[in-house]
Amino acid sequence: MFIHKKIILITLIILICFTSCKKDKEISYKSENQIALGTVCSIKMSENVSDDIFDNCFKILSDVESELSRTKESSLISTLNKEKKIKVNQEVFDLFKYSIDLAKKSDGKFNIAMGLVVSLWDIGGANPRVPNKAELESVNINYNEIKLDEKNLIIEIPINMEIDLGALGKGYAADKLVSYLKSQKVNNAIINLGGNIVVIGEKNKNTSWIIGLQDPDVENEIFSTLKVSDISIVTSGTYERFFYKDGIKYHHILDPDTLYPSQSDIKSSTIIGENSLICDSLSTTCFLLGSQKALDLLDNFEGYYGFFMLEDNSIIHSDDFDIEYDLIN
Ligand code: ADP
Ligand code: MG
Repeated sequence: MFIHKKIILITLIILICFTSCKKDKEISYKSENQIALGTVCSIKMSENVSDDIFDNCFKILSDVESELSRTKESSLISTLNKEKKIKVNQEVFDLFKYSIDLAKKSDGKFNIAMGLVVSLWDIGGANPRVPNKAELESVNINYNEIKLDEKNLIIEIPINMEIDLGALGKGYAADKLVSYLKSQKVNNAIINLGGNIVVIGEKNKNTSWIIGLQDPDVENEIFSTLKVSDISIVTSGTYERFFYKDGIKYHHILDPDTLYPSQSDIKSSTIIGENSLICDSLSTTCFLLGSQKALDLLDNFEGYYGFFMLEDNSIIHSDDFDIEYDLIN
């Protein structure tokens, strides 16, 4: 009898110790939000991370905005759009090179020379409207006419062209945050720049992060979760920025072949991979290409996986997609 009681007591002590030890290992997180890059940016890190690190992250985001924003008057891109010629640093130069390369790989669907078309539609802006044919045809979107002078880091565009880096700016910014946080030895964090997500490390020891993917048809609902660590997840869809006119929905991903919102068979285009700039640019590109061509394109991007919800609500993904997911309902 005595031995029996002793065993129960020891088991109890072990159990209590196990639960409290487990608790000790759980990271307590705090998160901060700010508006930057035209969206809500949220960074979640361990409570032990100093406020300075949070502040520096938001400073990085505002610096990227000062470089890449098309709507901020004094930005580098606005200056290029006005003056048609500008000297940039190597990083921005490489961003242009990458963008033009992706335009070529996607038969021109991904096109950073769509700035004037984006302005005419003004989707998500103060005066969204359906532009007329003459207006749309008056602009030059031929990305082959963007001149890149590698030696002097000078970029030049033709008179009736403007640049818009909205399809990859958040990914570029997220990668900068990741480099900074890793340099500061922040090993567990989640960055969410308006749906452009990067997770650093695991949420807790042996526990992945669970990321919800926005249901394209129901606001504030998710249609799937993904179990991930140390990776970027970026989704593009028609539900983010749009307006209705005469019962027709016009969204913000514009097809360079029609200069109208893309008629894709994809409703939600998610790309998962290491580099957030690549994920961001590919999620928009895959949306524009439609499911079949999107999967073909992804075959050329090792380590990048597509997860798409199609117009008929079916889910398809890259053949080699090995991330654990759970569909809701
Ligand atoms: P979001 O920035 O809303 O998350 P995306 O990354 O898919 O969405 O980028 C959409 C943005 O990209 C548009 O708002 C516009 O600024 C720009 N854009 C629109 N059409 C194209 C296109 N064909 N190629 C490249 N960029 C585009
Ligand atoms: Mg994008």
